[in-house]
Amino acid sequence: MSTENQNIPFLDLKDTTSPYAGRLIEAAVRVIESGRFLAGSETALFEQELADYCGAPHCVGVSNGLDAIRLILRGWMEMGLLHEGDEVIAPANTYIASLLPIIELGLRPVLAPPSATTLNLDLERVEEFITPATRAVMLVHLYGTPCWDEEICRRLHDRGLLLIEDNAQSISALAATPGLSGSRHTGALGDAAAISFYPTKNLGALGDGGAVLTSDSNLAATVRALANYGCDRRYHNIYTGYNNRLDEIQAAFLRVKLPMLDEETERRREIAAIYDANITNPLVRRPDIIAGSRQVWHQYVVRCRERDRLREHLAERGVATDIHYAVPPHRQPCLRDRFEHESLRITEELAHSLISLPIANVNASQALTISSIINDFKG
Ligand SMILES: *Cc1c(COP(=O)(O)O)cnc(C)c1O
Repeated sequence: MSTENQNIPFLDLKDTTSPYAGRLIEAAVRVIESGRFLAGSETALFEQELADYCGAPHCVGVSNGLDAIRLILRGWMEMGLLHEGDEVIAPANTYIASLLPIIELGLRPVLAPPSATTLNLDLERVEEFITPATRAVMLVHLYGTPCWDEEICRRLHDRGLLLIEDNAQSISALAATPGLSGSRHTGALGDAAAISFYPTKNLGALGDGGAVLTSDSNLAATVRALANYGCDRRYHNIYTGYNNRLDEIQAAFLRVKLPMLDEETERRREIAAIYDANITNPLVRRPDIIAGSRQVWHQYVVRCRERDRLREHLAERGVATDIHYAVPPHRQPCLRDRFEHESLRITEELAHSLISLPIANVNASQALTISSIINDFKG
């Protein structure tokens, strides 16, 4: 098989969107002709459809994933469940957007190390980070892998800690929940979850969008009010809120794509299975398959000590790759002072060895070609 000049992009949103073009245009026309652009029936229907899909009792459509996280935390503050200065345990290996709302609201992020197996927060170690000031734990389901352990999470919950899921990367993933009928969707595991519809996410809008899922009707009502200037009814502001609403047109687009999400997920899983079966280079560590869960491969992340040389090797043969994330949050210019005394060795080692392979656009034969290019890599 020739492995010259593949010309495989890392991600091509035009290509991933084109199968939906006709129905997206119909949806746009529907919204334009309705004359209703915010807080209308498209948003209400999408909220219901997403809640049903994930198995969460309440859903509030919001402006983006970061705002969804902020609204949940601020909602708990308004409800008296969180207070300024409280500690929130969060994974050190995440996208910085997970942490920004914690900091903005005057809460204290306590960064805990990732598991070398899941790359998510190491749940076996999370209890070491609990102090009398801890009030919440943020579970980020990174790269499409659920961050969940029923027993440990129940224990955290029993200690009175709030569990917030950052489910920006793992919509449609299933976590093993042996105590509750086998498995459950991420987003319906903890007390509340944030979802992002940023265009590159597994369920992407044609612009920004997000959602809050929760089993708590009080939190849902608080988030809904906060996202609408803090109004619980017209001209009646009970909070100093935000403008964090989801657009009708984005809701209409998402309603086109949601029914296809399981099929899109299966396609990603087929490509991941090809990589898993065919990448055999001992210099490259494939992602671990987590028993009992459905991983949805927002990113297919391999590890290699010679990461930069492997990237170059792939690039020379026309295969684009990416790194999620080359600089961990605690090393970013805006946060490094805050975390300068922290030793986050595993996260830093990961940042030097991770490499994301293309997955959103590649077909089976391209996945085989990429695997053999990787197997040819000599270090
Ligand atoms: C994308 C992402 C966010 C932020 O979502 P936006 O919709 O871009 O605001 C938060 N956390 C994680 C892990 C993400 O990947």
